[in-house]
Formats: sequence, structure tokens, C-alpha cells
Amino acid sequence: MKKPSLINRDYKHSLSTVKIRQRPLVPLVLIGTLVLLAMVLYFKNTLSNAQSDKTVLQVVPIELPSNTQDSAEHTFKTPQQTVKKTTSPAPQELNWKQHTIKSGDNLASIFKRFNLSATTLHNIIQSDDNTKLLRKIKPGQTLRFAQNSDNTCVALDYDINNIQTLQVRATANGFKSTINEKPVETSHSLASAVIQNSLFYDAKQAGLSDKTIMELANIFGWDIDFSQGLRPGDSFSLLYESKQIEGERIENGHILAAEFTNQGDKYQAVRFVDKDGHAEYFSADGKSMRKTFLRNPIDFARVSSHFNLRRKHPVLNRIRAHKGVDYAASSGTPIKATGDGRITFKGVKGGYGRVVIIQHGQQYSSLYAHMSKYGRYKNGSYVKQGQTIGYVGKSGLATGPHLHYEFRVNGVHRNPLTTKFPAASPIKKHLLAEFKQQTTPLLGQLARAKQTQLALNQP
Ligand SMILES: [Zn+2]
Repeated sequence: MKKPSLINRDYKHSLSTVKIRQRPLVPLVLIGTLVLLAMVLYFKNTLSNAQSDKTVLQVVPIELPSNTQDSAEHTFKTPQQTVKKTTSPAPQELNWKQHTIKSGDNLASIFKRFNLSATTLHNIIQSDDNTKLLRKIKPGQTLRFAQNSDNTCVALDYDINNIQTLQVRATANGFKSTINEKPVETSHSLASAVIQNSLFYDAKQAGLSDKTIMELANIFGWDIDFSQGLRPGDSFSLLYESKQIEGERIENGHILAAEFTNQGDKYQAVRFVDKDGHAEYFSADGKSMRKTFLRNPIDFARVSSHFNLRRKHPVLNRIRAHKGVDYAASSGTPIKATGDGRITFKGVKGGYGRVVIIQHGQQYSSLYAHMSKYGRYKNGSYVKQGQTIGYVGKSGLATGPHLHYEFRVNGVHRNPLTTKFPAASPIKKHLLAEFKQQTTPLLGQLARAKQTQLALNQP
């Protein structure tokens, strides 16, 4: 609306100049006619302006996109022609359109959106085995299309993951595809932290991913009670694989060597991979980091009631020994078998509600009560340490959802949080030389990296 306002100002300006220059009588008539003229002109202008504005507004949304499409098609013609001549189009000359897959999308709907025919889709899918991967598209993944002027698909890229890309190209003999892999560089990184808040918080501050923090807790979980036993001032250092693509960090690999100081006790672990690719963590002298039993059947759960032979029962309200440990956890939290063994009972048992009992060898047994539902194992089946045997609930005599866990040695209840568990088998004697060869450099790297970091942190 710039034009009407300008005219308005011109009109006012002319009015004021007229007043000053002209003598009073004659100018009155002049002013009157001028005002009329100006009004007529003003209205004519605003009307025509409004009209032209309207027409412009109508044209803009229709013409602009078709204009850009025109230019897009225009830039397209060049590579399309070169395709026929050289058969390998320069990728930077193609005009790519990207689509991020959303839930509910399928190939047919995406192709339709890009004005690509069902025949094109069929031809691409049927061209070879690689292109069948397109059937497995997932929300969040990216597809890129390059089309020529008549909307024919010239090229299609599909990022299978952050390493692999499926590249489909139109050739004189139909679609051809390749899977391109970006080179992944693996390097060793060091992280260390002193725990002030929590393991998760401080480890995250040190740049570790959730996956690596869980791995760290799993390695030392046999010796250190991560749910109850951490103290401010505890510390850790670890050497781990970090993976990069084109200089950009994608994820952390495995922990190679680590040290954890808990309440003044220092623990050390190193990763050893045998010829079959089976990896396990050992101490520097080849003892297994694993014990025959997990300390806790639930990760990072709060102990709501300890092993206590003179406890007032919360439901029965009288002194009754609490011959196990209670873990407060939300209903549905998975419960792990604390050791390898055979399920000897699975069913409802009085106040225990839904309960599973596992016999571990001759001496040991464990019991898991108040489950909301059982795992997929039957009575009599063998389970491995760490497998899910049920889910937290409040069946039986329970005030709220929790796991009641019992551990028995030769039929006698023991406190599972303090009982000493036997260690799993150490490194086999015939593997000892190989073990030393593989792990000494890793422990050396960890020690040197720690030294460097200490020196850097010196004021
Ligand atoms: Zn209990």
C-alpha cells in the first residue's frame, strides 16, 4: 500500500504550499477543485491499486512454483543429455529432492508424492537384490530422488544407516545399483571422571554414551554395587574404541581397558577376544571379572528393604524375618536370573504371589517373588545368567510393585548383597600367552593416557 500513502502525502504537501503562496479569496476555489481532483485521483489510484494487488496476489502462488519448477527442469536438461552421452552423470549437476521417511509412509506413497510411476517403482525394486532393501525403509531414514523434466527418475539414494548408502542409477539398460560404504575409522579414546553426583551424570559429563556407561557398570558390577555402594570421590578411567565417519564421531565401540576406584578399592579390567570372537573381561592377571552370580537381579534399582532377620512385616504388622532383599521398581521392569541354572518352580505360592525359583548347581538357589508376569521360560528349563525370567509386579502380599529376592546356600538364606560369590573361570592356561600379548598393550595405553591427562590437569 505504498502508492496510496505517497499520493496522500503529495496532496497534503501541495495543499500547504498553496495556502502559503496564494492570496485567500481566489485560492479557496482552487483548493476546492484541487481537493476534488485529488480525491478523484486518490480513489482511482487506490481502487486500481487494490485491483492490481488482488490480481498480483492471485498470480503469485500459482506462478512462482511453476517458475521454480521451470528453472529446475531447465537445470535438469543438461545432466540428462550428458547421461546419454557419457553414461555417468556428474552427481553435483543432478537436482536432488530429499524425503525423510515418516511413520505411515510407504514406497508407493513416497513415489506418488514425487510424481514417479508405479512402473518406475517396480523396475527399481526388481532391478537386483540390493534394491530390495528399499522395502525395509524405516521412519527417520532418508531417500533422495533426482528426476528429469518429464519426472522420470534418474537417480535414487537411500541411506541404509550412517555407514551404507544404496545408490540406484538409471542406465541405458535399466536401473543399476551399488551399496556405497563410508570408511569407518576406529581410534582409541580415554575418558575419566571423579564421581560427584551419580555414575550416569558424571560419566555423561566425561563424554560417554549410555551404552558405554552400561558396559562399564556391567564389567565392574560383580565387584561394585552400583545401586548402593558408590561414594563421592570414587573414580574411573577407561580406554574405549570411538568410531568416526569422515571425521565425525558416530558411536562408541567397546571398552578395551578400564579402572574403577570404589571406596578406596581399585579394580582393573581388560577385554580379551578369543579366536571364535567371544569377548570377556578379565583382571590384568587373567582372573574373570565375572562371578557365578549377579549382585542384583535388577539394574540400578533402589533397595527398599534389606535382609533383616528381625523386621516388622509391613502387611502382617508383626516381627517376621525378612529373608531377602526388596527392590523398588516400576511394574513391568525385567528381572534377571542372577546365575546360570534350572527353573525348579514357576507358579503362585501364597504371599510370594507369582514366583520363580532357580537351582544353581548343587549348593545355590535363588527366588524371585511378586511378579506381574513370567518370562518365556518353563518350569524345568535351563536359563543363563542375565536372562529375563519375569517382570516386577505386586502379586501376593505386597504393598506396591517391587521384587522380593532371596538367595540360599545349602538351603540357608543368605544376604545376597554381602555374600561372597565364587568367580567364574579364569583365562585358560593354554590361552595365557595370547592373553598377555593382546591385553598388555591396552593396559599400557590406559596407563599412559591417564598420565597424560593427569599432567594436563596440573595447575
Ligand atoms: Zn521382601
